[in-house]
Amino acid sequence: MTGRPDDVVAQAARRRTFAVISHPDAGKSTLTEALALHAAAIEEAGAVHGKSGRRGVASDWMDIERSRGISITSSVLRFEYGGALLNLLDTPGHADFSEDTYRVLAAVDAAIMLLDSAKGLEAQTLKLFDVCRHRGVPVITFVNKWDRPGREPLELLDEVEQRIGLRPAPLNWPVGVAGDFRGLIDRASGAYTRFRRTPGGATRAIAERVPAGRAAAEEGEAWEAATEELGLLEAIGAELDMDAFGAGLCTPVLFGAALPNFGVEALLEAVRELAPAPSARADAEGARRPVDAPFSGQVFKVQAGMDRAHRDRLAFIRVCSGRFERGMALTHAPTRRPLATKYAQTVFGRDRSTLDTAYPGDVIGLPNASGLTVGDTLYVRTPVAFPPIPAFAPEHFAVVRATDNGRAKQFRRGIDQLDGEGVVQVLRSDLRGDQAPVLAAVGPLQFDVVTARMAEEFNAPVELTRLDYTTARVTDKESAEALNGRRGVEVLTRSLDGSLIAVFADKWRVRAVEREHPGLTLTPMLAAGVTD
Ligand code: GDP
Repeated sequence: MTGRPDDVVAQAARRRTFAVISHPDAGKSTLTEALALHAAAIEEAGAVHGKSGRRGVASDWMDIERSRGISITSSVLRFEYGGALLNLLDTPGHADFSEDTYRVLAAVDAAIMLLDSAKGLEAQTLKLFDVCRHRGVPVITFVNKWDRPGREPLELLDEVEQRIGLRPAPLNWPVGVAGDFRGLIDRASGAYTRFRRTPGGATRAIAERVPAGRAAAEEGEAWEAATEELGLLEAIGAELDMDAFGAGLCTPVLFGAALPNFGVEALLEAVRELAPAPSARADAEGARRPVDAPFSGQVFKVQAGMDRAHRDRLAFIRVCSGRFERGMALTHAPTRRPLATKYAQTVFGRDRSTLDTAYPGDVIGLPNASGLTVGDTLYVRTPVAFPPIPAFAPEHFAVVRATDNGRAKQFRRGIDQLDGEGVVQVLRSDLRGDQAPVLAAVGPLQFDVVTARMAEEFNAPVELTRLDYTTARVTDKESAEALNGRRGVEVLTRSLDGSLIAVFADKWRVRAVEREHPGLTLTPMLAAGVTD
């Protein structure tokens, strides 16, 4: 560790807490591995990929964790790089669980938007980018797979600018078209790094600094094309403006290929140099709590059954301010109850280990914290409550019932717990009663998780009956009265926060109601848009 260990400001300043957002298959896992491997200066990336593809990665990781002392899991990957401490928070790959991804994005200070050079912006990337925009998370763009045939770099930049309105500022520029990748020119210094694959393919690339004169002679037309494009960029002024980056208006762009490790170091450098360190965080009233205020943190994820043997439930907490010490008594903001942290854990590594201290930007795991719900704030001394993490517009609805009426207690307990973890949203109404609440999901796979866990974990098997609703709006009491009794509309109460949710069979009905009763409150929820 550098700096005095008790200097919260210095500890916060050297942390970078970020996530990678991408469409499935763009190379998120490959890049994640490459970043950690590169940072840890591991010589043989090939050992991680293995000959049989990526199946062996998990077990290889465990060996690597042990032998190299870097920490990897499906939750948080943490590594040192050039004096900075990088916390890379993992996000689930499947679109049905994108609500989990959104919650993770509430806990980071920056995101890497990963694009496949042949595909550009894809559906899932666009949606996740929207969340970054919504939350004001600055985005660094990495154009991946440049070793394969793909699109023109200028065309990709144009797409970023046109489709999401982010002004691209390339930090480096590829020499050689996609598929004939020779190297990268660093725009600020003009330095050229040439890459060669090491024999055997997926191992660390050989990077060589080549002086411009020699590069021009050796790379021929590819060099000419690149310098001409660089001239163009110069002319249009595609420079990085740090204020615009911080405000979510501009994105630094880097090119590379994660698999053969081309350009990964430049990306690490960009994260260290450009991604913001943890800073004062606004509470629900808009007051900012500085990083050196007494400890505060927010639950952004609750996960059960990570350890099958213990059936435990782990709450992930992002530290927002102060120094956390294991054993500290925290106050749970919603209930004002004290919470013991004797068993606080790092959430790195499968063999979870106890955690003694943590600083802003870090993630703490609290096991068996059964009263904790996604969005809850914890603090010591001066009270604070951070704004809730928004729920996303559900698009799938089903009534859930216990198949065995004798298990009503287990049923209730299980449904409440899954609700608190954010596995699904639970909606209730007097009409439907407590034994048959409505489950609302962003993606239908969430229902499968409920069915499996209710049977296995809570010993209360359930049956689900799908409802024909597809659209939800937040409403209020007066509007609810006008809505009740209409066909294809139902008003339900969200268990978690008591808010009133109107569910509709389709968007047309929402519009019809809005036209007939222009005064009604029907606020759209943040769209996850998994199905469109
Ligand atoms: P994820 O679904 O986003 O996690 O993507 P993966 O990391 O699993 O990668 C999807 C596929 O793309 C795998 O077959 C990777 O080996 C491949 N891939 C990832 N990055 C690169 C790259 O830079 N170049 C090439 N040629 N293939 C890549």
